[in-house]
Amino acid sequence: MKVVFHDDFHAVYASDPAAAAGRMAAILEVISPRAELVAPQPAPPEAIAAAHDPDHVAWVRSRGLYEIASLAAGGALLAAELGLGEPALGLIRPPGHHASRGSAWGYCYFNNMAVALLELKRRGLLKSALVLDIDLHYGDGTVNILEGRGWVEVYNVEARAREPYLEEVARVLEGCQAGLIAISAGFDMAKDDWGNLLLAEDYRRIGQLACQTAQRNRGGCCAILEGGYNHAILGHNVLALMQGMGGE
Ligand SMILES: [Zn+2]
Repeated sequence: MKVVFHDDFHAVYASDPAAAAGRMAAILEVISPRAELVAPQPAPPEAIAAAHDPDHVAWVRSRGLYEIASLAAGGALLAAELGLGEPALGLIRPPGHHASRGSAWGYCYFNNMAVALLELKRRGLLKSALVLDIDLHYGDGTVNILEGRGWVEVYNVEARAREPYLEEVARVLEGCQAGLIAISAGFDMAKDDWGNLLLAEDYRRIGQLACQTAQRNRGGCCAILEGGYNHAILGHNVLALMQGMGGE
């Protein structure tokens, strides 16, 4: 599977768990045999401006994080664009789903998913999308930026037990007609991570359900990395999601 990654994502750009040393290497070590790496360009300034207020962009710039944050947004954009044709993963950081139009928290700076979908929509490549957020934390930023637009639905899975969680994902996808299923793929709901709930086989199942839905809709499927902090298991869960997306 095509995996969007840039060596700059190895950089420790902040002192938070999403930026921790070795996090990306831990994922790459596991997924490398199955991953065809593709390097992104930074998201163009106009694409970032479509999702964020100028004051927020200036705030990111003032922290010296514009380059890495715009590269992550560009990674999401490339993953989503690739995803229109075949399942694709954006292995990017910093994460984005807590970045709203005018503010950000929770290790996020630019909302990678929102930048990507708004830009694909502007280019006329996207009819409709479902953002399926499987991170432990509610993706408030994605909702803030994308809510109220008729062509995109943002869904945060709420169940906090395994079976109900997978049933909820299946239910949402069953009724989904969107042309692109875009997974905000946080892995901090994993067993032995902060949420301590989902197993690798569950990530595989989520990937299967998402891409089966995309096939049914004659559409696309992509995932971009959000949270996930236990380096010992993170790569295995990312691989499981990829395998599910690939129909395994
Ligand atoms: Zn999270």
